[in-house]
Amino acid sequence: MKITSVELEKRCRDPKGFPRSPLPEIAFAGRSNVGKSSLINTLLTRRRLVGVSSTPGKTRSIDFFRINDAFRFVDLPGYGYARVPKAVQNAWKTLIDAYLVNRETLVSVVWILDIRRDVSDLDRMLHDWLCSYAIPYIPVCTKADKVSPGDREKQRKALRKSLDPEADPVLFSAKTGLGKDVLWKRMRAAMLHPAASNASRKPLGGPAGRPGGAGR
Ligand code: GDP
Repeated sequence: MKITSVELEKRCRDPKGFPRSPLPEIAFAGRSNVGKSSLINTLLTRRRLVGVSSTPGKTRSIDFFRINDAFRFVDLPGYGYARVPKAVQNAWKTLIDAYLVNRETLVSVVWILDIRRDVSDLDRMLHDWLCSYAIPYIPVCTKADKVSPGDREKQRKALRKSLDPEADPVLFSAKTGLGKDVLWKRMRAAMLHPAASNASRKPLGGPAGRPGGAGR
């Protein structure tokens, strides 16, 4: 994907501020410190567009990046950082909920996991929740450079087994660029053929939980 322009269009702490013009959106979600900022910067070939944090749990807003004037990347606040007070966690939860449930322009969520870690309860909650609202997602395992090729495959298989046999997680590394092209291909396909508009989505048997819940 050739990136010709990237603009931080809006930084929102309130759903009322979400951009109104209808561009397709890909949202990025994962637990704090998973490598989300590095992944977005790598995809956009911008070194410091999204601040790679030395302070996990710092982001409190939903950031909308307008790309090539054609689509948006939406950076959702990282969840699950234990040192964030409960009240702040709850505010994030409300904000993330408001975005995911109601956003008609959302075409897919890039759901980010650290390849070295087991799927946490909060990860699982987000996954179940995306499924219950029939929101399409692309699972990505970051920091793949930190494990051997054999362990990468092992983790990919484990993820499939524990979450979804159909899921085909993208192995990604911001350090080496592994998986960048594959992920662009999947995101482009999602934008070209959105599964369903959010307007027509209904929870399938009610949500199993909510993302952004209390940190541990
Ligand atoms: P965020 O909190 O999810 O946005 O995570 P960051 O992008 O800020 O990354 C957290 C830490 O992990 C930083 O020290 C990054 O340099 C490191 N990191 C992120 N992605 C990778 C990767 O693919 N490989 C390696 N080796 N380190 C990474």
